[in-house]
Amino acid sequence: MRVPLTAVPDSHLPSADSLLSVAVDALGGSERQGQITMVKAVQQAIDDGDHLAVQAGTGTGKSLAYLVPSIRHAMDADKPVVVSTATIALQRQLVDRDLPRLSEALGKELPHEPTFAILKGRRNYLCRYKLTAAWPEEDEQDQLFDARDVSATGRMVQRIQEWAEETETGDRDELVPGVSEQAWRQFSVSAQECLGAGRCPSGAECFAELARARAGEVDVVVTNHALLAIDAMGDLPVLPEHRLVVVDEAHELVDRVTSVVTGELSETTVALAVRRVGRLIDQPVADQLMEASEDLKALLAAAPPGRVDELPEVLGLTLALVRDSAARCLTALGPRGGDKDDPDRAGQRKAAFTALDEVHDTAVRMLEAYGHASETDRAEVVWLDGGTDRRPPTLRVAPLNVGGMLRDKLFGDRTVVLTSATLALGGSFDGMARQWGLGDDDWQGIDVGSPFDHPRAGILYVAKHLPQPGRDGLPQAYLDEIAELIEAAGGRTLGLFSSMRAAKAATEALRDRLDVPLLCQGDDSTMLLVKQFAEDEPTCLFGTLSLWQGVDVPGPSLRLVIIDRVPFPRPDDPLTSARQRHVAAKGGNGFMTVAATHAALLLAQGTGRLLRSQDDRGVIAVLDPRLATARYSGFLLGSLPPFWRTTDPGVPRAALRRLSSGD
Ligand code: SF4
Repeated sequence: MRVPLTAVPDSHLPSADSLLSVAVDALGGSERQGQITMVKAVQQAIDDGDHLAVQAGTGTGKSLAYLVPSIRHAMDADKPVVVSTATIALQRQLVDRDLPRLSEALGKELPHEPTFAILKGRRNYLCRYKLTAAWPEEDEQDQLFDARDVSATGRMVQRIQEWAEETETGDRDELVPGVSEQAWRQFSVSAQECLGAGRCPSGAECFAELARARAGEVDVVVTNHALLAIDAMGDLPVLPEHRLVVVDEAHELVDRVTSVVTGELSETTVALAVRRVGRLIDQPVADQLMEASEDLKALLAAAPPGRVDELPEVLGLTLALVRDSAARCLTALGPRGGDKDDPDRAGQRKAAFTALDEVHDTAVRMLEAYGHASETDRAEVVWLDGGTDRRPPTLRVAPLNVGGMLRDKLFGDRTVVLTSATLALGGSFDGMARQWGLGDDDWQGIDVGSPFDHPRAGILYVAKHLPQPGRDGLPQAYLDEIAELIEAAGGRTLGLFSSMRAAKAATEALRDRLDVPLLCQGDDSTMLLVKQFAEDEPTCLFGTLSLWQGVDVPGPSLRLVIIDRVPFPRPDDPLTSARQRHVAAKGGNGFMTVAATHAALLLAQGTGRLLRSQDDRGVIAVLDPRLATARYSGFLLGSLPPFWRTTDPGVPRAALRRLSSGD
């Protein structure tokens, strides 16, 4: 048992469930059992100081169910609660819709109207100092772009400069349409590069500092998983002091945290460090790092992409060269700090230190990753990502798992509520809890169900008669099945494919064959395609990963979800394959723990696209027969909502025709 969070056990504030009914009344909603159960569970977790995992299906109203007890706690304890999301869409929904309405509704019941603010990483805010100061060149990628890209970047730079004159927040997401990373980087700094408000000539009006100050005064701070991880794991806090965290879209937490702690090294990262340090130290010292960069470039260009299980001697020597020449540059830069009276020079030195530290520390980390002779005892994985037209080959290093870090740093001294529509895989929270590093006694799990009547509203059809998917693209029988199902549904189909190649192949093969419009991800921005799909009923949309999780289209525009294959990770995915091997070496079932868990999560997310409101009806068609026949199919099916199941091809066609004639 942990220390309870509520500062005053006999709080004078109204109970969380009575606050919920006030909120539901004011917002014009109706009572939902799952929502009430969730409010009570979150309140209990706050009272007991226990971590809580809540699976809450679409339509539960889960944001209200965690916000109400969280706001109550914030007022009681006079400390903010932090709410973290994986996507900008949910962040916007909380800040633009849920929280303003909820604050207004609860204002009269509580000592004051609840307040809230959004806080992001420093890179997301315009840096006023960089806007005006002489800063080292940031155009390290220009050489990789053609002239059109360079002029497009130039236009974006101009737009940022114009926007800078009028923005009140400096928040990149408010710049619409968005700008490329390359353009934005010229006006933003990382936390490491920032001069610090005390030394920066623009410190008093700095957007990032103003956002932080505002976050320190409110009841609810909305942020993202990356900043949450940086706050928990870094040396300096970036979020205001808090004791309660709500992690929404918690199924994404591990991937987001892994991204934050992944290190990378390429000719670009080393060349950037050379450029930044160039004019600040003696040329011969900088030249040594440049030569190391050239060696690395040649080596990575010739190496095959994939996991690097054994450190080739030549790579070891090159990494050591990069490490040592970066260390010499750092020494040549002299002591950190100083330059109090010369902010421009201070900015340039800070930028050089940051880039050099990153190169040096990543090279050290990569070399140390091979410290254990046995592959299965190593804590980190190194792999090479092949280059593209726009990105050079890049060597990466990431931990095998982030559970230990999360347990020590995130879950250590605060209470965490984790929620999502998909957390109980194969009917159990254990898989996710293991990934979060939580032991059996550290947490409670609760599934508050879904307000939808899945067996009556949706059919899960597995095409058991089809051949297993192979490596050589979509079999003709799959294309015929897709065409027949879409015809029966009158379009209205979301096609979720396991790869972009498969989505494109299906689009090409079926565009002329079908008499309904067929869109494919990549034809335009995903946001616009989803909008077109939602607005025109017969239109179909095919795509891959981001559509599995990001499409929310209630109503008759979506009656059929087609899934081409069980979404296992690619066998050559470096991190998942290494994790799988590690579990197997420790005596566990690597396939079930890693690959099947990954597939179950994605499958549950994909099938979750069908029913988005109470009145929705339709069919999920999984073409891969392994969902009905493989030994692991029970685990996968146990991770999905209780749709009415069939393997009879006639049933979904008849149901779709009925729905189509009724719409
Ligand atoms: S304090 Fe940091 S982020 Fe803010 S304006 Fe100055 S350098 Fe930029």
